[in-house]
Formats: sequence, C-alpha cells, structure tokens
Amino acid sequence: MARRTVEIAGAGLAGLSIAVRLAQLGWHVRMHERGKDLRMFGAGIWLWENGLKSLQILGAYEQTVKRAKTIKEWRVADGAGNILMARHCTPDDKLLLPPRADLYQALIDRAVELGVDIETSSVAVGARPEGVLIMEDGRELKADLVIAADGAYSRVRESCYCTSSIDYGSEAGIRMLIDWNPSDPEDICTEYWQGPWRLLFNPCTDSHNYIFLSAPVLDERSRQMPIDRDLWAKMLPHAKDLIDRCTAAEGARWDRIVNVRCHRWSEGKVAVIGDAAHAMPPNLGQAANMAFTNAMSLALTVTESQDVPDALTRWEKKQRPLTDHVQWFSYIYGLLVAKTPASMLPLRSDLVRGMAKTEWFEWALNRGARTVPDGYEPSMAPARS
Ligand SMILES: Cc1cc2nc3c(=O)[nH]c(=O)nc-3n(C[C@H](O)[C@H](O)[C@H](O)COP(=O)(O)OP(=O)(O)OC[C@H]3O[C@@H](n4cnc5c(N)ncnc54)[C@H](O)[C@@H]3O)c2cc1C
Repeated sequence: MARRTVEIAGAGLAGLSIAVRLAQLGWHVRMHERGKDLRMFGAGIWLWENGLKSLQILGAYEQTVKRAKTIKEWRVADGAGNILMARHCTPDDKLLLPPRADLYQALIDRAVELGVDIETSSVAVGARPEGVLIMEDGRELKADLVIAADGAYSRVRESCYCTSSIDYGSEAGIRMLIDWNPSDPEDICTEYWQGPWRLLFNPCTDSHNYIFLSAPVLDERSRQMPIDRDLWAKMLPHAKDLIDRCTAAEGARWDRIVNVRCHRWSEGKVAVIGDAAHAMPPNLGQAANMAFTNAMSLALTVTESQDVPDALTRWEKKQRPLTDHVQWFSYIYGLLVAKTPASMLPLRSDLVRGMAKTEWFEWALNRGARTVPDGYEPSMAPARS
C-alpha cells in the first residue's frame, strides 16, 4: 500500500514532534518552515514527565537532556522572600531543564534520520478541509493529512475558521541564558514575585542558567533589551544580584504572553496542534509538553484509522479536556500574578500558601505532567544514572 502523506506547516517544537512520530509510524512527511533556517533562541525549557516520555517515544530523549540539569524543587517566593509554594520532584516525577537549542536539535536530527523532508523559506497561507495546504508561492499541496503547527498566530488555523479567541493578556516576558556562577543553586528553580513583576531563576547546564523576567506589557522600559537593570532591580530587589548578571542581548527574546482558544482542533483533514491550538501563559511550563503529548495521541489515532476527519474528531475529544485544564490553570496563575491589586498582595500570599497545601491543588498543578502519552511503554524509559 502507498505510504500515507502529511504536509505540516511550521517546524517549531510541535511541528517537529508530530513529524517525527508520523515518520516513525510509516507516513511520508513534508514540513514547511517560513524561516530561512531552523534556529532556536537562547533559553531553557521545562520538560516534565509527559514531555520526557514523549521524547522517549520519539527517540530524542538522550540527546535532548545530555546537558540538562535535574530539578529537585520549584519554589515560588513573595516580595518579602517567603516561600509560598514548593513543588518537589522525584526520579519518577521529574523536571529536567535543557537548553531549548538542545531539544530543537534533537528533534531535527531525528526528523532527518527518519527521512522527513524539511523545506525552509516555505510559507503556508492556508488549508482546505479536503486535505490541501496552500502555499504563498501558489502551490496547492494535496495530502492525506494537513497539520497547522504554525504557532499562536497561525494563518492555517485562521483559514479554517478554527480560532475562537486570542487573549493577549497583560504580561510580557524576556527569556535569556546567563553565565553560571559557583554560588548558584544546582537543582532549585525559584520564582520571585513582586506585585505583577517576577523573575524565574532556573539552573540549566553546567555553564548557563536560564532566566525568565515578566512584567506588565504596557511598561515600556521593561521591554528593553539588553534589559534595563536599574528598573528590574528596583522592581525585584530580592533578585538584584541575579539581575546584575542579566547582560545578554544576543539570543535573548521578548514575547507577549498569549492564550489561544479554538472552536475545534480540526476541520476535515486539517489538524491544528501546539501553540496554534492552545498557546497558553507559560506558568506551568507545560505548553510544549502538552504539544508533545497531543502529538503522540494524534499520530496514533490517525494511523489506526483510514477516516482522517473522524480520527481527528476522536483525538480532540480524548485530549482536549486535559489540555483545557492545563491551559485554564496556567491562565488563572497568570491572572493572580498580573492582576492582584497592590492592596490585596498579602491576601494573595495567604491564598497561595493555603491552596498549595490542598490535595486539589497538588492534583490540578500536576495533572498534565503526570499524564502518560499514548504509545509510551515502560521499556522506553532510560536506565537510571
Ligand atoms: C516565556 C515562555 C516560556 C515558556 N516556557 C515553556 C516551558 O518551560 N515548557 C513548555 O513546555 N513550554 C514553554 N513555553 C511554551 C512553548 O515555548 C511553546 O508552547 C512551544 O514552543 C510552541 O511550539 P509550536 O511549534 O507550537 O509553535 P512555534 O514555536 O511558534 O513554532 C511555529 C513555527 O512555525 C513557523 N511558521 C509560522 N508561520 C508559518 C507559516 N505561515 N508557514 C510556515 N511556517 C510558519 C515559525 O517560524 C515557527 O518555526 C514557554 C513559552 C513562553 C512564551
């Protein structure tokens, strides 16, 4: 039987993960990336168990995590330095923190090994439900499956009328790598909150740590790169020593935080995945992990069925409740950080401290991370070091 074909718009983390999985399952895969080359910016990325297991399925785990720090705890501290919440990790419930570039390269290498065609400078402008990807250069590429993995502002999703809302929120953030320092914590991520301003410190590799700074989007000075260190130190006095080290400009990146909701994740033979389907505030470090988890499920569901539109509907029905939950939790978390009035900050601290002790919070916080992706077998787990 002829190999089934898929055209994918976007070679980000979501596009590459579905490309690799479909190629493993025997599909002929072509990807289209609008960029001139495949490049990742300088930051780290939180990979939880659901993402790590997905990478084990893809055969990209070892290369991704070879330099990554293993995190033992994620802490949130208020402006007075008090710990509001601590999430512990164990060898069976891990958080690893590789540089994004290592993850991206591992996925690219797997895609190439599996014979995925990757076209760069190739821009998709839309899709038709019968399975056609429409390109800016006029080509109309017919396939058994078309995937919109072209990010939060997806043109392909828009062309299929799948968008329900794009909420630009009120936060924006800068990500960068800073040089490692011997006094830095080796295995604890700490998020410092001060009103709507925050700094998240992450151990990343033996040579670099990853910093995420967020602030109200309308604050012009907070958008400057290299960062305005006087401003950030004034806003986050507890983290002044770290802010003084945030000198990187090259490789750093500023982003608005967006939340994308879809009416549906597919239209006919066109599926929407990753940020195109569910961009969310980064507060749980789950958006890419959920993209991987959903990609594992999508690939198996369409491979096991000849009726692609029906398979896509079933895939969404199965995966969406979990994604909606993770997205909702991340959104509410962001509201708490960005929207609490100054007079209510002590109450916010009490609320988080109280909630963090409840069983419900433990479940809700970790529901995504503790999901086992479709197709995962315990035999895929790496040997313990
Ligand atoms: C501050 C911040 C921190 C984050 N931290 C984490 C974290 O720790 N853990 C986590 O799991 N997630 C995290 N995320 C989210 C994660 O980065 C994203 O969910 C993930 O990168 C989305 O991947 P994607 O492939 O869906 O989209 P994108 O990364 O946007 O990739 C889309 C690709 O499609 C290409 N493209 C766009 N339009 C077209 C077109 N028309 N034709 C062809 N190609 C096109 C783009 O060039 C790009 O390469 C964070 C996000 C932010 C903002």
